[in-house]
Amino acid sequence: MPRSVEEHRSVVAALLRPTAHEDVPLAQARGRVLAVDVVAAVSLPSFDNSAMDGYAVRAAELAGASEGSPVELPVTTDIPAGRTDVPVLEPGTTHRIMTGAPLPPGADAVVQVELTDGGVDRVRISAQPEVGAFLRHVGEDVTAGDVVLTAGTVLHAAQIGVAAAVGSATVPVRRRPVVLVLSTGSELVAPGTPLRPGQIYESNGPMLAAAVEDAGGVAELLRFVPDDVEEFLGVLRDRVKEGVDLVLTSGGVSAGAYEVVKDAFTGRGVEFVKVAMQPGGPQGAGSVVDLDGVAVVTLPGNPVSSQVSFEVFVRPALRAAMGHPHPERPVVTATLGERVSSPAGRRQFRRGVLDAVTGSVREVGSSASHMLGSLALAECLFVVPEDVTELDAGAAVDVWLLDD
Ligand code: AMP
Ligand code: MG
Repeated sequence: MPRSVEEHRSVVAALLRPTAHEDVPLAQARGRVLAVDVVAAVSLPSFDNSAMDGYAVRAAELAGASEGSPVELPVTTDIPAGRTDVPVLEPGTTHRIMTGAPLPPGADAVVQVELTDGGVDRVRISAQPEVGAFLRHVGEDVTAGDVVLTAGTVLHAAQIGVAAAVGSATVPVRRRPVVLVLSTGSELVAPGTPLRPGQIYESNGPMLAAAVEDAGGVAELLRFVPDDVEEFLGVLRDRVKEGVDLVLTSGGVSAGAYEVVKDAFTGRGVEFVKVAMQPGGPQGAGSVVDLDGVAVVTLPGNPVSSQVSFEVFVRPALRAAMGHPHPERPVVTATLGERVSSPAGRRQFRRGVLDAVTGSVREVGSSASHMLGSLALAECLFVVPEDVTELDAGAAVDVWLLDD
């Protein structure tokens, strides 16, 4: 009896402990999950200031001012943004003031420059402002002591902006899980070198490392190894020490001979199972007893199986471990563009392209698990449930959106 997709998801998720907190400079905070609320050290605005380039005035002194009968007042000083020694606005005078500059004590309105002659020593003002016009009041946006960002928030541009605005140079975030990526296979050679007959370029390593980073983790791509247990374990022993959250292997876990990952880890805390899904049936997960108990997820070698298994099992677990509020891909319902058939007893994840206008999903390439070319064209995965063997065009399916 194969293991259900849900059960294997729980097994993988349980391997990853929640990551600790660390303070990072704002420049490194993009995409990180906030670990602790950010409290404003200052109010926003932190002082009363002008919302316009213009003149700070006492509104009552401009009673009746209009284009036909402007009021003329002396300009006693300029207040550019950043001036810190702002003098009092004496009755019967104005200060020329710029956007963001502190409002002088005594002023109760700003007249925008467009309603004046723009004078430097004296100014003619041809409108009567309301009291409070074009003033930004201290604390009208945020009050010092307010929580501006709550723990669990993902930090994008606006959140980083507000953290800076309230005076935070660093933010407390959840540590990114460190994932070692290790590919296996005696047929593998590095891209950029010549291929001999029977060899293929190693693609799972760079692909999975990119997927780890996309999920928010830190990927370290190890030197890939042939189907040799001692070499495989040697590479891991050299690198596995404290601070590694997960080892992600690909290949060597199915039912053939030379299954290096299976041979190396069987009986050492890693369980090898068949999961009721396609692609990606053969899976393994556990903690390796004689490698510091490091958490291991062993993905199958077929590139599509590897990548789809990462999506289904590893990505949500990594994101949950770093406290992400949405560990899962967004799922929408779409209608199938064509009839599909699917094996009984296995949940199929098929590669598709979604037409957002019509809400229909079309398959790209075939459902075979070695077809990496079509995986690269896919924008989504659509799901054919375990108990379904035929779906007609127009049937509703769940679609995992692969773009954030
Ligand atoms: P395995 O799971 O090791 O039996 O591999 C299944 C299929 O995936 C074989 O055709 C392998 O050549 C291929 N494969 C395994 N690992 C990789 C890899 N790192 N890059 C590209 N193809 C791979
Ligand atoms: Mg292999």
